[in-house]
Amino acid sequence: MTAQVVTLPWNGQSWPGRMDDGVPTFGYRSAPAGLVTRRQLRDAGLCPGGQDWVAQLKWRRGKSWAALYRLDTAKPSPGATTAQLYSLWKANQVLRTCTECGRTASYRLPKFNGRRCWDCDRTSGGEAA
Ligand SMILES: [Zn+2]
Repeated sequence: MTAQVVTLPWNGQSWPGRMDDGVPTFGYRSAPAGLVTRRQLRDAGLCPGGQDWVAQLKWRRGKSWAALYRLDTAKPSPGATTAQLYSLWKANQVLRTCTECGRTASYRLPKFNGRRCWDCDRTSGGEAA
Protein backbone atom coordinates (compact mmCIF):
# COMPACT_ATOMS: atom_id res chain seq x y z
CA MET A 1 0.00 0.00 0.00
CA THR A 2 1.59 3.27 -1.01
CA ALA A 3 0.72 6.23 1.12
CA GLN A 4 0.31 9.25 -1.08
CA VAL A 5 0.59 12.66 0.46
CA VAL A 6 -0.53 16.02 -0.78
CA THR A 7 0.58 19.41 0.44
CA LEU A 8 -2.26 21.77 1.23
CA PRO A 9 -1.48 24.95 -0.69
CA TRP A 10 -3.03 27.30 1.87
CA ASN A 11 -1.06 26.17 4.96
CA GLY A 12 1.73 23.91 3.71
CA GLN A 13 0.47 20.95 5.73
CA SER A 14 1.00 17.46 4.37
CA TRP A 15 -1.89 15.05 4.47
CA PRO A 16 -2.61 11.59 3.04
CA GLY A 17 -4.42 12.18 -0.21
CA ARG A 18 -3.77 12.82 -3.84
CA MET A 19 -4.08 15.52 -6.44
CA ASP A 20 -7.04 14.99 -8.69
CA ASP A 21 -8.43 17.49 -11.18
CA GLY A 22 -5.78 19.89 -9.90
CA VAL A 23 -7.07 20.05 -6.33
CA PRO A 24 -6.24 18.08 -3.16
CA THR A 25 -8.51 15.05 -3.04
CA PHE A 26 -9.30 12.94 -0.02
CA GLY A 27 -11.26 9.81 0.72
CA TYR A 28 -14.50 9.79 2.63
CA ARG A 29 -13.97 10.83 6.26
CA SER A 30 -10.26 11.40 5.80
CA ALA A 31 -10.18 15.10 5.02
CA PRO A 32 -7.76 17.20 7.07
CA ALA A 33 -8.90 19.33 9.97
CA GLY A 34 -10.14 22.68 8.90
CA LEU A 35 -11.90 21.46 5.80
CA VAL A 36 -15.61 20.85 5.84
CA THR A 37 -18.35 20.14 3.37
CA ARG A 38 -21.02 22.65 2.52
CA ARG A 39 -23.44 20.69 4.64
CA GLN A 40 -21.11 20.69 7.66
CA LEU A 41 -20.67 24.42 7.23
CA ARG A 42 -24.40 24.91 7.24
CA ASP A 43 -24.90 22.61 10.22
CA ALA A 44 -22.35 24.67 12.12
CA GLY A 45 -24.12 27.89 11.27
CA LEU A 46 -21.44 29.00 8.83
CA CYS A 47 -21.31 29.98 5.19
CA PRO A 48 -18.31 29.91 2.83
CA GLY A 49 -17.85 33.65 3.19
CA GLY A 50 -17.43 34.23 -0.51
CA GLN A 51 -14.64 31.65 -0.78
CA ASP A 52 -14.75 28.95 -3.37
CA TRP A 53 -14.12 25.36 -2.39
CA VAL A 54 -10.44 24.39 -2.19
CA ALA A 55 -10.40 20.59 -2.08
CA GLN A 56 -12.66 17.68 -2.75
CA LEU A 57 -13.79 14.40 -1.28
CA LYS A 58 -14.23 11.44 -3.54
CA TRP A 59 -15.50 8.10 -2.45
CA ARG A 60 -17.20 5.04 -3.90
CA ARG A 61 -14.47 4.96 -6.57
CA GLY A 62 -15.15 8.52 -7.55
CA LYS A 63 -18.90 8.11 -7.96
CA SER A 64 -19.60 10.29 -4.95
CA TRP A 65 -18.15 13.75 -4.66
CA ALA A 66 -18.29 16.65 -2.26
CA ALA A 67 -16.60 20.03 -2.25
CA LEU A 68 -14.54 21.01 0.77
CA TYR A 69 -14.38 24.52 2.14
CA ARG A 70 -11.86 26.07 4.48
CA LEU A 71 -13.22 26.48 7.95
CA ASP A 72 -10.85 29.34 8.76
CA THR A 73 -12.19 31.54 6.01
CA ALA A 74 -15.83 30.64 6.61
CA LYS A 75 -18.08 33.29 8.07
CA PRO A 76 -20.87 32.85 10.54
CA SER A 77 -24.07 32.88 8.59
CA PRO A 78 -26.73 35.23 9.86
CA GLY A 79 -28.45 33.48 12.73
CA ALA A 80 -25.54 31.25 13.81
CA THR A 81 -25.61 30.59 17.51
CA THR A 82 -22.70 30.37 19.91
CA ALA A 83 -23.82 26.82 20.73
CA GLN A 84 -23.47 25.81 17.10
CA LEU A 85 -20.00 27.25 16.88
CA TYR A 86 -18.98 25.67 20.16
CA SER A 87 -20.21 22.22 19.20
CA LEU A 88 -18.23 22.41 15.98
CA TRP A 89 -15.08 23.34 17.89
CA LYS A 90 -15.70 20.57 20.39
CA ALA A 91 -16.15 17.95 17.68
CA ASN A 92 -12.89 19.04 16.13
CA GLN A 93 -11.07 18.75 19.45
CA VAL A 94 -12.15 15.13 19.83
CA LEU A 95 -11.01 14.30 16.33
CA ARG A 96 -7.65 15.91 17.00
CA THR A 97 -6.83 14.21 20.31
CA CYS A 98 -4.49 11.22 20.04
CA THR A 99 -5.98 8.09 21.58
CA GLU A 100 -2.54 6.91 22.63
CA CYS A 101 -0.64 9.85 24.07
CA GLY A 102 -3.58 12.20 24.63
CA ARG A 103 -1.90 15.14 22.94
CA THR A 104 -3.93 17.45 20.77
CA ALA A 105 -2.56 17.54 17.28
CA SER A 106 -2.83 20.49 14.93
CA TYR A 107 -4.56 18.26 12.42
CA ARG A 108 -7.45 15.86 12.51
CA LEU A 109 -6.29 12.35 13.33
CA PRO A 110 -7.44 9.83 10.76
CA LYS A 111 -9.53 6.89 11.78
CA PHE A 112 -7.51 4.37 9.77
CA ASN A 113 -4.69 4.38 12.31
CA GLY A 114 -6.94 4.43 15.36
CA ARG A 115 -6.76 8.21 15.75
CA ARG A 116 -3.18 8.24 16.85
CA CYS A 117 -0.83 11.07 16.09
CA TRP A 118 1.96 10.52 13.58
CA ASP A 119 4.50 10.19 16.39
CA CYS A 120 2.64 7.33 18.06
CA ASP A 121 1.88 5.76 14.71
CA ARG A 122 5.53 5.81 13.72
CA THR A 123 6.83 4.32 16.95
CA SER A 124 4.31 1.50 17.22
CA GLY A 125 3.40 1.12 13.59
CA GLY A 126 5.07 -2.22 12.82
CA GLU A 127 6.52 -0.84 9.61
CA ALA A 128 9.80 -2.69 9.28
CA ALA A 129 12.43 -0.39 7.88
ZN1 LIG B 1 0.11 10.28 20.11
